[in-house]
Parts: sequence; structure tokens; C-alpha cells
Amino acid sequence: MRLHEYQAKALFAQYGLPTPGGVVVTKGDDVDAAVKRLHGSHCVVKSQIHAGARGKAGGVQVVPMNEVAALAARTLGTRLVTGQTGPSGQPVNALLLEEPVVAVAELYVACVLDRRLGQRMILASAEGGIGFEEGRPPVRLPIDSLRGFSPYQGRMLAKEIGLSGRLVAAFGDIVATLIELTAQTDALLVEINPLMVTEAGGFMVADGKVEIDDNALFRQARLNSERDPNQSDPKDEQARALNLQYIALDGDIGCLVNGAGLAMATMDLIALAGGRPANFLDVGGGTTAHKVAEALTLLVSDSNVKTVLVNIFGGIVRCDLIAEGLLLAAARFERTFPIVVRLVGTKREAGQQLLAQSGLAVDVTDSLEEAAQIAVARARGL
Ligand code: GDP
Ligand code: MN
Repeated sequence: MRLHEYQAKALFAQYGLPTPGGVVVTKGDDVDAAVKRLHGSHCVVKSQIHAGARGKAGGVQVVPMNEVAALAARTLGTRLVTGQTGPSGQPVNALLLEEPVVAVAELYVACVLDRRLGQRMILASAEGGIGFEEGRPPVRLPIDSLRGFSPYQGRMLAKEIGLSGRLVAAFGDIVATLIELTAQTDALLVEINPLMVTEAGGFMVADGKVEIDDNALFRQARLNSERDPNQSDPKDEQARALNLQYIALDGDIGCLVNGAGLAMATMDLIALAGGRPANFLDVGGGTTAHKVAEALTLLVSDSNVKTVLVNIFGGIVRCDLIAEGLLLAAARFERTFPIVVRLVGTKREAGQQLLAQSGLAVDVTDSLEEAAQIAVARARGL
């Protein structure tokens, strides 16, 4: 789960990191009162969306105080397209209004989970800001899970990226705080870009990106309550509400499977047969016919889907419930698709019998390989 910049900054401030004075507004009417709480002649107006690269796309603008209201009126309720959003952009429902920071340098620092090493990793660079991606790769410092982090490592890292004087210890402190924050919030990613070096010779967090591990949200209730569902694909939100795992891809075969392993194998076999999955939806273990029907309805609401492949290896899941759900869903499909079904395991005969009796035109096979081949052919209109 991703946080907005203003939520990330509130979290940083809680941990004692320096953040600029700022106010969030969601309505144009609130702007006048909000800017009265800010100091200075100018204001940084920042569109709050779950994507970066806003700077280059006009989503971060420094304007005189008396122009904030007009800019807010033009921006709130629109969609912002950046290099990191899809072509239709993300909705701007909130603006962060901040006191400008005068920077003498823009650094990059992040704490990420390195899945290959199975450790957290600090990334740091003196070339932060909007050009970070094009700059030299950041310096990497793995954090040993057992030994933890020692302050000298932060100071060495600071020197490695070219800092000197009192910035060295201050940078080390920021790294230590990032590691603590990452661990305590179950974050997969905590990124500060840019970390500004101010004229006064201190640091200021000018942008923040935080991604919390969804699997840990049960114990991060406060952060979970900050979720902004308007920033995600409605299909993802529907799947979440139904407790289904839904992954959108870019092909044309919609896949209903049970279990992540079987999903991967299904993707591989579709690719082997020369096709591309449009998505996959994992119905998981103990499911009901109703839930299967909801899952299928969700799956085909993707307009790219030309064929549905149902691949179930029934262990805990019963094939007859899957078939029942499939029939329920098919009755309310708004368009017709070829449906290919591989349904084996518990109550296989009962499931296949239900399908056969329904009169629904489905290709049924026990072979996963064959199911993938048929689905690819059907998606091509064969
Ligand atoms: P992003 O493009 O979505 O990552 O948005 P950022 O918040 O990182 O803003 C992009 C760029 O705008 C930063 O790299 C800075 O150069 C600039 N910027 C953002 N906030 C301020 C500020 O308070 N003062 C100044 N001078 N520049 C800012
Ligand atoms: Mn940024």
C-alpha cells in the first residue's frame, strides 16, 4: 500500500526528520485559510497522486501566495499524467501547499527491501531530484538483519557520496531513522528524493515515497486507515474487497486459477503456446460459487479479455462449486467469450457434469497444456 507524499511527510516528522511547513487542501474553498498558515511570499503547490515524476509534468509548481487559489482551482479534480502514470493519469484530489525550500544540493536516499539478499538496503546518491534516474547509480549499503546498522556505516556512506563537515553525522542520523521507520512500519520502500541540503547547511525532506507491505497491514491499522482507494484501478479495489488476488497484465486471455504456483504455470504455458494473459485472478482456497461468479465478472470487466481460461486444481477448492460459479457468472456476462476449462481434483466429475448439462459452449479438457493451447487459439478467433 502506497502513502501519499503528505502522509509520508507526516510520518517522517513523527520520527523527527526535518520537513517543510505545509498544509493539505482537498477543496478550493479551503485554500485561503490554508495559505494563512504558511510563511513566505511563495508557495510550492504539489499534486498528491500515487506516482512520481510530477515535477516534470507540472504537478509541482512554485507560485506567489496570491496565485495559489487560482492554481488550486485549475488543478483539483483533474487528472495528472506523468512519466510514471498510465496514459489517463491519476486523479488529483488533494494538494500539498508547502513553504519553499532553497536548496544548494538535492540528494537521494532510500531504504528498500532487497529480495535477492533478503535484507534491507540503503541507497544513497548525491545526484537526487528529478534527474535521479538518469544519473549515476546510487551507492548501496546492505543492512545485516542480525547485526543491524551501526552509526559509523551511515557516516561512511555520507562520505562516499561526497558529503563533508557536519552533514556527515547528520546524514548518518537520517539513515538510522529511515531504517528504524522502515522496520517499524513494515515498509517495503521508504524513499526521500530530493533530500535537500539547505543554505543554512542542514537537511530538508522535500519529497517522500512510502510503500507498506500489504501483508503487514493487519498490524499497521493506523497506516491502513490512510489508504486512498481513488488512486488504484477500481478492479484492484474490487478484488481487494472480495479478498481475491488480482493482477492485471497486458494480453488478451483472462485467467481464473487457484494458487499462485498454478497461476505462474498457467502464465508460462500460455506464453509457450504463443499467447499472452490479460490478467490472472487467484480465487484461493475455500471459496464459494458466489465468490467464483464475482471473480469471473471482475475478470471479464477488463475490455482486453477475449477468452477466459479457467484452470483449477481442486484440493480444498471443489470443482462443482467452481462450475456453479462459472454458470452463475456466464448468465450475466454482457458479451460472450470462448471459455476454456481445465477442472481437475476434488468433485471433478460433478463439476464437469454441471458444465456439460448447462448447454454453455465451453472447451473442457483435463490437460493444462492443451487448455492453454485452446485458449490461445480461441483468443485469435480460431
Ligand atoms: P516528483 O517529481 O514527483 O518526484 O516531485 P518532487 O516533490 O520530488 O519535486 C520535483 C522537484 O521539484 C524536486 O526535485 C525539486 O527540484 C523541486 N522542488 C520540490 N519542492 C521544492 C521546494 O520546496 N523548493 C524548491 N526550490 N524546489 C522544490
Ligand atoms: Mn521526488
